[in-house]
Amino acid sequence: MKVLIADDELVSRRLLQSKLVGLGYEVVVASNGIEAQTILLSDDGPRLAILDWMMPGADGLAVCRAVREQAPAYVYVIVLTSKDRKEDLVAAFDAQIDDFITKPFELPELRARLRSGERVLKLQATLLEATSLLQHQATHDSLTGLWNRGMAYEHLSHELKRAARSGEPVSVLLADLDRFKLINDDHGHAGGDRVLQEASTRMRSVLRDHDGIGRYGGEEFVVILPQTTRDTARVIAERLRVAVEEHHVVFGSGSIAVTLSIGLACSTDVAGNADALIAAADAALYRAKDNGRNRVEG
Ligand code: GH3
Ligand code: MG
Ligand code: MG
Repeated sequence: MKVLIADDELVSRRLLQSKLVGLGYEVVVASNGIEAQTILLSDDGPRLAILDWMMPGADGLAVCRAVREQAPAYVYVIVLTSKDRKEDLVAAFDAQIDDFITKPFELPELRARLRSGERVLKLQATLLEATSLLQHQATHDSLTGLWNRGMAYEHLSHELKRAARSGEPVSVLLADLDRFKLINDDHGHAGGDRVLQEASTRMRSVLRDHDGIGRYGGEEFVVILPQTTRDTARVIAERLRVAVEEHHVVFGSGSIAVTLSIGLACSTDVAGNADALIAAADAALYRAKDNGRNRVEG
């Protein structure tokens, strides 16, 4: 683990550095507060810091305040001080330090306080990881990895608001796999799932980076095309249709033919919100099914 030491006095800096190296830490050194601040605010800076309180320029508490406001990740801050009056310590905690060590320090105390800091940092990392996993699960479909319905809807609403300000068109596609029930009947649910995954991958691969795609229901997908006119949306829809049609999905010892019907709607032709646009795309999708499937309408 990397630890930053900031102390303006060379002798005490060296002493602390050798003790930390002896404890197995990787040490980064700063000889004043400004330098310490710069290091702690960098993206891969140390997450554990021992700051001398009294330093010219920015003192330990000033560095701590700056770090709390601007650091990209949590830094566990221990302040090193010869002050031990209660008011001083209250001021230090008000500046949002995590812990303090009074000088002269003993090695076992230093080690214990650093370990306590490491425990807090480890716990925080675990929580962040769990939060990010939950956030992903709450916004993505687990089978296909695409956005789920809620996320796709939110993204569409956001793009429509942006489009209302800029005057750019937004197009929406609803794509539904044809006769998917038969695929399940012929190849089992696992075969159907494989088809959903393959179709998702192929559709994603022919979309542009700024296009969004989500699984809207069982075998239905919604595609959000920002800054896209109806004519361009038609070209993209056709590309999706062909991408799915042209490769059979390999499953077990055989292969499965898959086609897609697509309904299209563009914000320039439909008054109203996300619901209205999706309803228009859905109506077009029904026409695509009625007119023989494996086609684009709208
Ligand atoms: P159409 O061409 O008119 O769209 O016919 P279809 O058979 O595709 O449409 P229908 O809505 O009748 O059937 C959809 C089927 O999709 C029924 C449902 O069991 C199946 N399905 C929904 N979600 C999943 C899933 O996650 N995995 C699998 N394997 N099947 C699913
Ligand atoms: Mg279907
Ligand atoms: Mg369907």
